[in-house]
Amino acid sequence: MKTINDFNFKNKKAIIRVDFNVPLDENFNVTDATRIEAAKQTIDKILADGGSVILMSHLGRPKGVEEKYSLKHILKTASDILEVPVQFASNCVGVEAKTASDQLQAGQVLLLENLRFHAEEEAGDMAFAKELASLGDIYVNDAFGTAHRAHASTTIIAQFFPTEKCFGLLLAKEIESLNKVLKDSKKPVTAILGGSKVSSKITVIENILDKVDHMIIGGGMTFTFVKALGGKVGNSICEDDKQELALEILRLAKEKGVQIHIPVDVVAADDFSATANTQIVDVREIPDGWEGLDAGPKSLANFKKVILESKTILWNGPLGVFEIDKFANGTIELGNFIAEATANGAFSLVGGGDSVAAVKQFGFEHKVSYVSTGGGAMLEMLEGRVLPGIAAILE
Ligand code: AMP
Repeated sequence: MKTINDFNFKNKKAIIRVDFNVPLDENFNVTDATRIEAAKQTIDKILADGGSVILMSHLGRPKGVEEKYSLKHILKTASDILEVPVQFASNCVGVEAKTASDQLQAGQVLLLENLRFHAEEEAGDMAFAKELASLGDIYVNDAFGTAHRAHASTTIIAQFFPTEKCFGLLLAKEIESLNKVLKDSKKPVTAILGGSKVSSKITVIENILDKVDHMIIGGGMTFTFVKALGGKVGNSICEDDKQELALEILRLAKEKGVQIHIPVDVVAADDFSATANTQIVDVREIPDGWEGLDAGPKSLANFKKVILESKTILWNGPLGVFEIDKFANGTIELGNFIAEATANGAFSLVGGGDSVAAVKQFGFEHKVSYVSTGGGAMLEMLEGRVLPGIAAILE
């Protein structure tokens, strides 16, 4: 796996696909610069070598050219974080981009306008990719969030750099961390899958059954399993058409020697709200009119035991409706168990949109081994798919 550390960028122009798809407020101020900060290490190394940097990214989902999605809005923030004045080309292809790149000197950084102002980007257009490629000497992909897309800048462009292509440090770390879970994992391996629906996680569950010793299933998915096993789930979220599938997963797990752990008790509420009445009940006996919105204390004690015995831990999806304080305890406790296991030497990887939000909200970010930034891309890797953006560099 070639990374930027395998190249010397002296007098070279690196064209880097970054993920600067950052949130902006109504005045176009960047409200969370994490993604720009995350790209700094890659950019710094190239500049320190005596190279120059051309950055390309998308921002939002524009339909054609839409001012509000212009990357010019992030120029100041990017310049502050990168500690160099970032130049800007108001079109990612064409004469302006070409001239700006031709004039770029060692130590300088150029940001290209939003790639998605051109439909050719998402279409993976060859001519468009070739034009982007003509701007740089070495292609670097450092955008994990879009690595599962075969877009012009994430995948197609790589073929114009038969050998001069590599991963940025951020993307390399993502791949390495996921491989620590999926390939060279230390046993016992435990996957914790929460969130709302079985249907959105089913492919992940099926693929990782081959790689784990324990699987904790929590969140809204719980109730599809419980009902399939003959329990009463009241008003809990439940996918009736996925009950057969739930039983099939349990059967497969048994066959593969994977222990499945499902909540045995839950915090049930008489309403999906912060003012609901709550009670702890057996997960198989949720009264009519009540719904399970978080894992109960017995379940958490069971999960704790499994997690503290694990050497590799993967966490995707909250154990309850953590957005409401009353139902956040299970997710917070789970984070505590994972933090404790990590402190004891386990490798822990957290990923997927909502678990990342939970980890940040409750301050576990630095107590786990790695927090993955690419929700969709990470799920696709967990599903066992080869991501086109990664394959294009490895080819
Ligand atoms: P996902 O996007 O599939 O990871 O689901 C995350 C969402 O699942 C969060 O917004 C949680 O509030 C929600 N969730 C977790 N547990 C439950 C539950 N028991 N009932 C309903 N929603 C839940």
